Amino acid sequence: MSPTQQRRLVTELPGPRSVELMERKQAAVAGGVGTTMPVFAASAGGGIVVDVDGNHLIDLGSGIAVTTVGASAPRVVAAVTEQVQAFTHTCFMVTPYDGYVAVCEALNRLTPGDHEKRSALFNSGAEAVENAVKIARAYTGKDAVAVFDHAYHGRTNLTMAMTAKSMPYKHGFGPFAPEVYRAPGSYPFKDGKTGAEAAAVAIDLLEKQVGAENLAAVVIEPIQGEGGFIEPADGFLPALAAWCRASGVVFVADEVQTGFARTGDMFACDREGVVPDLIVTAKGIAGGLPLSAVTGRAEIMAAPHAGGLGGTYGGNPIACAAALAAIATIEEDGLVERARTVQQLIFDKIRKIGDDRIGDLRGRGGMVAIELVRPGTTEADPRLARDVARYCHQRGVIVLSCGTYGNVLRFLPPLTITDDLLDEAFDVLAEAFQETE
Ligand code: PMP
Repeated sequence: MSPTQQRRLVTELPGPRSVELMERKQAAVAGGVGTTMPVFAASAGGGIVVDVDGNHLIDLGSGIAVTTVGASAPRVVAAVTEQVQAFTHTCFMVTPYDGYVAVCEALNRLTPGDHEKRSALFNSGAEAVENAVKIARAYTGKDAVAVFDHAYHGRTNLTMAMTAKSMPYKHGFGPFAPEVYRAPGSYPFKDGKTGAEAAAVAIDLLEKQVGAENLAAVVIEPIQGEGGFIEPADGFLPALAAWCRASGVVFVADEVQTGFARTGDMFACDREGVVPDLIVTAKGIAGGLPLSAVTGRAEIMAAPHAGGLGGTYGGNPIACAAALAAIATIEEDGLVERARTVQQLIFDKIRKIGDDRIGDLRGRGGMVAIELVRPGTTEADPRLARDVARYCHQRGVIVLSCGTYGNVLRFLPPLTITDDLLDEAFDVLAEAFQETE
């Protein structure tokens, strides 16, 4: 079922069929919906995406950190096929089904901490983030929400307010939801601070400008995703979590991008033993089907009244079947360990490139990035990031950029990619640096 695990280009990219489809896209799809590569997919699996012209591309994006188990993982395909034949939907709020309950049990078991937990299921990352805020507000009776510089939490009205970057996420789309406050985070490459120092600055700002007595929740990505794969210095997350606990503030980890083995731990919070009060998950949870969740302390999750949480499609049975199969794949195939091997492989390859325009190499597991700068400085070089990405795209390697300044290239392969494909993809990246001024 999975395509041949080899890069193979049979046309220029984009090929004629993709060009034709792009023309139809332009005529039919709203311009606000962007495209990283003008290449249309026909099939995908393992570390390969096959386009409509028959080109085999190496996938270093996983559809933005979603297909951790691959885009046609055998267990997921089988579980979805079986479920779709049984029934597609009843609405869990009308006549419930066991897949939803089983996903909640799995989340309660796998997420950090061994306290009593409950979960609720939704459709997208942004929707789950919004619900985490609702739950924290209901529990604390407070309004304010704290987020961080470079944060990304989604594109709905509340999550736009929580997201840091204006263009393209917020520009022209206001007014935004009130009572969202932004604190400085920890960005070791730029701020040179220890985790404790950076946390002290953030906490001081929150105490002075918001007040713990007004603050319902602190929402943080343990490694920031869209903002540039920014990994806080050791100690930053534990210090914030401890302050939240001491101050009656709900500590919410947005693990939408970092969750489910992506970072070489089941969840990124695990590495420092941070136990969030609420954890938000999506993306890698369901092998490509739309599903998201909020999981947390039973007493906090119990705060909203019956009927206060939910939605027509939240925890759709097909998505739940996919999630159970994706989780089984992660656990039974050792994908947490695999993520660590992938990190080692990528780090080795990038260190060999040895280009002084790579200012920082960072990330964990299968969530690695390079920040491109003017040599010897921390000054962003977004043009280089764009040119290197374009070079890779033209040679059949899917890479994504990110970062507040657009100068970060991120690598998020499916964890089922072969070593050979990774090796080849990073050879192409090395070439890109040689060929790009
Ligand atoms: N939070 C984080 C950390 C994310 O990376 C994303 C998506 N990139 C979201 C929330 C929003 O998820 P979705 O696009 O599924 O709404």
